[in-house]
Amino acid sequence: MTDTVFGPDGGPADLYIGGKWLPARDGRRFDVINPATGDALASVADAGVPDALAAVEAAHAAGSYWATTAPRDRAEILRRAFELMTAQAEEYARLISLENGKALPDARGEVAYAAEFFRWYAEEAVRLTGTLATAPSGANRILVTRQPVGVCVLVTPWNFPAAMATRKIGPALAAGCTVVLKPASDTPLTALALARTLADAGVPAGVVNVVPGRRPGTIVSAMLHDGRVRKLSFTGSTEVGRLLLKEAADNVINTSMELGGNAPFLVFADADLDAAVDGAMVAKMRNAGEACTAANRFYAESGIAAEFGRRLAGRMAALTVGPGTDAATEVGPLVNAAAVDKVESLVAGALAAGARSLAGAGRPDRPGYYYPPTVLADVPADAAILAEEIFGPVAPVVTFTDEDEAIRLANATEHGLVAYVYTGDLARGLRVSERLDAGMIGLNRGVVSDPAAPFGGVKQSGIGREGGHEGVLDYTEQKYIATQW
Ligand code: NAP
Repeated sequence: MTDTVFGPDGGPADLYIGGKWLPARDGRRFDVINPATGDALASVADAGVPDALAAVEAAHAAGSYWATTAPRDRAEILRRAFELMTAQAEEYARLISLENGKALPDARGEVAYAAEFFRWYAEEAVRLTGTLATAPSGANRILVTRQPVGVCVLVTPWNFPAAMATRKIGPALAAGCTVVLKPASDTPLTALALARTLADAGVPAGVVNVVPGRRPGTIVSAMLHDGRVRKLSFTGSTEVGRLLLKEAADNVINTSMELGGNAPFLVFADADLDAAVDGAMVAKMRNAGEACTAANRFYAESGIAAEFGRRLAGRMAALTVGPGTDAATEVGPLVNAAAVDKVESLVAGALAAGARSLAGAGRPDRPGYYYPPTVLADVPADAAILAEEIFGPVAPVVTFTDEDEAIRLANATEHGLVAYVYTGDLARGLRVSERLDAGMIGLNRGVVSDPAAPFGGVKQSGIGREGGHEGVLDYTEQKYIATQW
């Protein structure tokens, strides 16, 4: 095993192509910024089109070998990756916290979640089955097998730099695919550390390639137009997802899209209010609100709305804000200055439209990209803050009067990733869950993410599922063999 030197302190900062660490061919590099200070952490190679195509070439060259390895061998490698990542959990957590800003407890949670995708897909690698049936006419047999889809381009966001990568790499490798990962340019160091861990676990050269870069549009487009690429798996904003679906159409590439969310959080008057506030804190504040699953809009029934807002504000105001790597920090900085500008403007818009601040609201005067935990009450139903992903530590609370109104408000969005429901009546909980337009529901629970469960959205939140058994199937194509004997 290589020395576990991570990120800014001498860890990998070049492109990882065909098992080699390489600078960009045009020599360009870019700085990774520490959001807690605004200072540069590391200088990383900036992939251009020739580098991205070299990575596709490496993935293609390794493809036929990797596709025919024994599933058990692929499983053992993924299992070793899980063990190495778990052994290196503290280094990973610190690196994630440094480049993304999230508080160490959140970063540790992410590492455990991320590593679990390697373990889960180690187990799934040996469970890819087919079917054999007799044709209705009785004349022949219908044999259906599954084969790896081929070279996959994986594009990931900055908010979970480890988990969004392992949630794709795990099932791709289990299925026998080779990959080129294009991580977010705000957080490339974690992705490069993963490349090293996977190599240490025994992943052969070319099977996993990583090309960070500040020119995402051009390098991803070049890869999607290379005939050797057969799949795109993208996690990021709906806006970029729409563009990439159009790009993928040119070569009719298999796509999996995990896009933006705008999660409603419904609290009915019969809910256990303490449990609802606990759930709200998790659903809102994991990653300081920078999660696609973050509760974006809180709808509380009229009888308890004021009390729910008061208790939530008390909990939010008590959180310790500071650099993610400080032991006492519960809420770190946001990822960059643009993220703070966006949150600030959404809060200002809501206040101007008549909302009241119960906690926070106002950018602190300190270096780094901070915004305080904020609760807003009396938010008008047409406020922009309810229509856009806040992606920050702000909870707008709206009052509703009955179940139909709650469902109508919750569904009034183009997104449909996740919704949360708190009620003491299980029948109501299931009834409401069925009527909510979302791929996932947290019923009396503030967190839904689980490597063993199918994660994904409906409407403009995406296409396909990651995690669970379904996650590996998305990296396979079915082959039907009509046979007779
Ligand atoms: P983003 O701006 O869409 O970026 C995502 C990735 O796409 C990054 O690697 C980015 O590279 C790249 N990219 C940007 N423009 C591109 C283009 N024109 N062509 C190809 N690639 C391009 O999203 P983000 O700000 O990183 O992440 C936040 C978003 O992700 C939120 O909307 C959140 O809801 C969503 N998300 C969804 C899930 C889910 O599972 N549904 C999970 C996590 C996050 P650069 O970094 O270099 O710009």
